[in-house]
Formats: sequence, C-alpha cells, structure tokens
Amino acid sequence: MDETRDVIIIGGGPAGYTAALYAARANMQPLVIEGFNWGGQLMITSDVENYPGYPDGELGPTMMQDFRRQAERFGAEFVTDDVTRVDFSERPFRVWVDRDEYRAETVIVATGASARQLGLESEQRLQGRGVSYCATCDAAFFRDKVVTVVGGGDSALEEALFITRFASAVHVVHRRQEFRASPIMVDRARQNEKIEFVLDSVVEEVLGDAKVTGVRVRNVVTGDTTELPTDGFFVAIGHDPNTALFLDWLDHEEESGYLVTEPRSTATNVPGVFAAGDVQDHTYRQAITAAGSGCMAALDAERFLSEQRHVAASAPQPV
Ligand code: NAP
Repeated sequence: MDETRDVIIIGGGPAGYTAALYAARANMQPLVIEGFNWGGQLMITSDVENYPGYPDGELGPTMMQDFRRQAERFGAEFVTDDVTRVDFSERPFRVWVDRDEYRAETVIVATGASARQLGLESEQRLQGRGVSYCATCDAAFFRDKVVTVVGGGDSALEEALFITRFASAVHVVHRRQEFRASPIMVDRARQNEKIEFVLDSVVEEVLGDAKVTGVRVRNVVTGDTTELPTDGFFVAIGHDPNTALFLDWLDHEEESGYLVTEPRSTATNVPGVFAAGDVQDHTYRQAITAAGSGCMAALDAERFLSEQRHVAASAPQPV
C-alpha cells in the first residue's frame, strides 16, 4: 500500500474509538484496525451504568457500536481484522494485517487487556448473565443477592470487599490456602462478616441456563464437590495486556507486559507511537479512563505531527 496515513489506531475499544473520534475531527483521517472481535471488554458486559452521559445505562455492545459510529461520522475508516505484525523501526511506521501493509506517520496502540478466564464452557455461556469480570461495573446488580468470587490476589479480595456493599453474602473461592493478595487485604476480607472463604477449591462449572444459579466447586485436597447457590459469579484471576505484537519495539513492564508511557502523556519510547487505554493501565481499567486516554493519544499524535511538519518546513531548502 503506497499511501502513508497521518495515524493508524490499533484496537477497537473505548480507547481506540475515542482516539479515532478526536483524530478524525482533527482531519487526520484515521485508519482504525479494530480487530476481528472489535469492541473490547464491554462486549462481554451487559448493562453499563457508570459511563457518564447514559443516565439510564446502556448495553456494553450497544455503547461500543455508538462509539464506533461517532468516529465513523467524522471520517474514521475501519479494518475489521487483527494486526499480525508491526515495524516501528522508522517512520513511516508499518503495520500488517496478514499480507496487507499499512503505513502511517503516527500509531496509537489501544489493544486493551483481556480479563483472564477460567476457560469453562459454562463460564462463557453465562457471560453477561451473572458471570462478570468487573465488580466496579456489575456489583450493583447483586443487591441482597449471593455472589461468588474466584481468585486469591488483590483484585479478587478488593472485588469481594466492594461487592459486600451490595450483596448479602460473598463466597471467595481460591485454589490454595495461601493468598497472593497483600496481608492487609486478606485481613480486611477476613474481618468482613459477609465474606466466606472456600479455600483449596476450584470452580468446575457455573450452573444455570438463562442466568447463573450456582457454581460447582471441587476441593482439590479431598476431591469432594459441592454446589454453592449463587446469583453472581465474578472471575478475578488477573488481566493480560494484549501487547505480544509490540514487545520487541515498545518499553513494557518486564513481568506483566503492560506498555510503559511517559508520565502525563501517552508517548511510548518510540517517538510517534502512542499507547492508550488498558494496554498501558492496570490500575483503573474503566471504559471512561480508557476513553480519556484515547483522547489524550489523539491530541499527542496531532501535536507530534504538527511539530514534525514545522521542523520539516523550517529546514533549509536546497537552492
Ligand atoms: P494476581 O495477583 O496475578 O492474582 C491472580 C489470582 O488468581 C491468584 O491468586 C491466582 O492463584 C488466581 N488464579 C490465576 N489463575 C487461576 C485459575 N485458572 N484458576 C483459579 N485461580 C487462578 O492478579 P490480580 O489480583 O488481578 O492483581 C494484579 C496486580 O494488581 C497485582 O500486582 C496486585 O497487587 C495489583 N492490585 C492491587 C490492588 C490494590 O493494591 N488495591 C488491587 C488490585 C490489584 P494463585 O495465587 O494460586 O496463583
């Protein structure tokens, strides 16, 4: 492909579409390579009630369609496929979808993170029907209900504690006796009367047809299985950033793989490549924060391009 774009945005979640909206309105004619499964984590969420501007809530997939449509309205173009390779060694940067090559002066990486799943068929089938990966998003749907959380890290205990504000009881199922979570979180959870620990145990199946009604749990020491009646099932076993394509090019946290950006900026270590949303944020992980950083990335890319053009225009011309 001969054309060199101002910007390619990789990723079709709240960060990518917001970057596309801002870039499109800045006349940068963005190309969004949004991924085959575009929409990001909101596609496995039912009602989103904490996104400002939607007072009655909105379904996650509908919200993502709206984000996409808003960017499209201002001229963003989309490739609904997965990026397979990138080359950030020089500008224009190169991005491939299989054999198709795309070039751009700037790239915004907004590929997000994926909540780890247990990998159960029943877990997948009941996503958005009682199975959730985000307590901040969904805990309020379980007022006076019974909820089960799986995981033994800080996220699991933080989510369990948060859910106790709504639910009548919270089971925390963890596969061993020791917690990965910090001692202070373990203490706090132990002191909470609504929380009951089910240790040395794994969830074998999420029960229910139209919605979650329980979980079948197996004790890994005794081999005994029990059924816990539950209305909500929160999987809190960590997130993985979708950064495999970029690790050779962009600075990232060694262990987790999250991309590193400059403070108060979306700039990566490669000038002209920016990162937005959950791919560089394991702290907040909300649609609204991802959207905010998508906006920042588009502004950063626009400023970068203007500076480059200013430098090129003021360079001495051959006589
Ligand atoms: P994490 O620390 O990696 O913990 C994941 C937990 O899930 C572990 O207990 C692990 O069990 C369990 N797990 C993993 N795969 C599993 C599977 N297939 N089946 C059952 N259990 C499984 O992840 P995280 O809790 O999301 O935390 C990520 C990072 O963010 C950590 O550094 C954490 O400290 C930080 N964080 C901090 C706070 C806070 O300070 N308030 C809040 C949230 C997160 P094992 O222990 O047996 O491996």
